[in-house]
This record gives sequence, structure tokens and C-alpha cells, in this order.
Amino acid sequence: MLVVFIGAPGSGKGTQAERLAAETQLPHLSTGEILREAAETGADLGRRAMEYINHGRLAPDDLVISIIAHRIRQPDCARGCILDGFPRTIEQARSLDQCLAQEGRSLQAVLELQVAEDEIVRRLLRRAQISEKPRSDDTPEVIPQRIAIYRQQTMPVLEYYRERGLLCEIDGNGTPDEVYARVRKALESRRLVSSDAG
Ligand code: AMP
Repeated sequence: MLVVFIGAPGSGKGTQAERLAAETQLPHLSTGEILREAAETGADLGRRAMEYINHGRLAPDDLVISIIAHRIRQPDCARGCILDGFPRTIEQARSLDQCLAQEGRSLQAVLELQVAEDEIVRRLLRRAQISEKPRSDDTPEVIPQRIAIYRQQTMPVLEYYRERGLLCEIDGNGTPDEVYARVRKALESRRLVSSDAG
């Protein structure tokens, strides 16, 4: 199974992607996580990326595309993977299609988690308060910028996938269990998971 989670910051895509990865035993690839980890190890790439992350801007397309293109070719992704936070621009979406096509593969579904903006801000601020290691971009200064970037650069990607018949719109309000039940239902209707498991 090769699927993508898209949603505004705080929409719960990380949580849902993780659950689906656990159920399907597929790798969960979060570009945000990969970049933050690279920064922690002091890698040059990570340090470069943090300059964008800390300002709520997107890291350059070529940087994230090369990370994912390399990662999805690893043997553990042979059965598929759960992408989280990639692609975030039309350029990234096109590159992903090309990269998969070279190997005779293609995306099977794009799961959009829809959450109202005031709820998103509440969730991100709460996450910053309860987290043992708060993220540098979960701040009242950076959150509005991340939401604006989502609207400008990532929402067009939804259209790109809608035109290709891949987009599944999912109500992201409610508890993680409630949202996951909707995620499963969308995947069941596309016959990507069976209804008896999970
Ligand atoms: P996330 O963990 O998905 O909320 O991502 C945190 C930050 O990492 C984003 O605000 C961007 O600065 C950067 N980032 C993550 N994924 C991408 C991507 N696909 N393209 C560009 N920047 C990204």
C-alpha cells in the first residue's frame, strides 16, 4: 500500500499515519521527522532545514524530494509505505509521481484530514504545552505562518490529486480513534485494507 496523508499542521496526520503504519507493518515516512532528526544529529542538511522550519516555511523542494526519492527505494518500502507531510507542493507531487513511475509503482490514495482552523491552532498550542520536548515551530508566532503556507502551497496539491481520483476527504475532528475509524473506512472502500482486520 502506498498512501499519503495531507492536512494542515495539527490536523493529526502524524498520529494517523503512525497508526496505519503499525497496523499495516509498513514504514511511516514523515519528512518533518526526518528533517528534525537530521538537525539533531548535527547533519548539515538538518541544520539547513531548521532555518526554514523555525520560520514556518517549507524546506526547498529539491532537498525533500531527494530525501524521499532515496528513502522509498529502500528494501523496507518494497511493499509500500505511509507518507506523512510529503508532498507539500505541486512540484513535490509531480516528482513523486515520476519517481514511482520509474519503478512501475503509483500512489493508491491520498488521505486529507480536514480540521477547522481554530481547532488546529488550539491543538498545536496544547501540543506545545504538554510536550516534553516542544517543537520550535509550535509557537504563537510561527503557527499562523505554517497555516498560511499550507493554504498557499499545499492546498493546490489536493486539487492535483482530486483530478487524478486519488483524494479521500476525511473529517479530522474528534478523538484519534474516531478519526482512525474514518481513515480505515476510506481505505476499505478502495480495497486497500480489509474490513475484518484492525
Ligand atoms: P511537519 O512535521 O510535517 O509538521 O513538518 C515540519 C516542518 O518541516 C514544516 O513546517 C517544513 O518546514 C518542513 N517540512 C516537512 N515536510 C516538508 C516538505 N514535504 N516540504 C518542505 N518542507 C517540509
